[in-house]
Order: sequence, then C-alpha cells, then structure tokens
Amino acid sequence: MTQEHRGGCRCGAVRYRCTGEPEFVANCHCEDCRRSTGAAFSTWVAWSDSQVEIVAGTPAVHASSEGVQRGFCRTCGTPLSYLGAKWAGETHFLIGTYDRPGAFTPHGDAFTAEALAWAKPKRES
Ligand SMILES: [Zn+2]
Ligand SMILES: [Zn+2]
Repeated sequence: MTQEHRGGCRCGAVRYRCTGEPEFVANCHCEDCRRSTGAAFSTWVAWSDSQVEIVAGTPAVHASSEGVQRGFCRTCGTPLSYLGAKWAGETHFLIGTYDRPGAFTPHGDAFTAEALAWAKPKRES
C-alpha cells in the first residue's frame, strides 16, 4: 500500500495529502524561513508536486523573495508550504503541520551559517 501523509493548518481550513516517500526532510536555518515561520529554524518535508494534493481550502501565498512562494492559512495564519524556483516541481511542507510529524526524521541541515548559535547542528551537511 502506498504511504499517505496528511496534514493541514491549525484551524483545518487548508488540508493536504502527500503520498509515497518524501524527496528529503531537512532543517533550514536561513533567516528567510526564520522570519516567515517565527521559529528558530524550520524543518521541511519535500515532495515532488505529483505526490501532493491540496484536499481542502487554498493556501494564501506570500512571495517572500524572488521566485519564492510561501503558503499559509488566511484564517488561522499557520505557515504551511514553500515553493521555490530553486526547487522547481517540488512542494515543501513544514513538519509541524503534519498529523503525524513523528513519521519524519530530518537527515540534514541547510544554511547552517545563518543558524542561531544555540541551534547550530553538530554535523554540517
Ligand atoms: Zn487555518
Ligand atoms: Zn530556509
């Protein structure tokens, strides 16, 4: 059976479904993610677009920088997704928006040069 991972925003207005195995799971320490999520760093679960389906609602989109679209719920404000020209054809969802976030384990860290001192990973990737 194909694996299915469902998730959505805090209020449930936006819901999504991902099928199969993610392309990657990684922590991003960049300032742009930090500002956009309000968290010290962000853990992203990346999928190819064909694995992703929005099953309820429509995320609002904020173009946070050139070629980057960040999806969020217009009702409850939960940051949800990242679509970037650098990762064309992929949709990334924040790990905390999954119904079962424990199903994923990050295997890498990106933009570690921008990481907060206390959040610096011991291993670089
Ligand atoms: Zn919501
Ligand atoms: Zn980032």
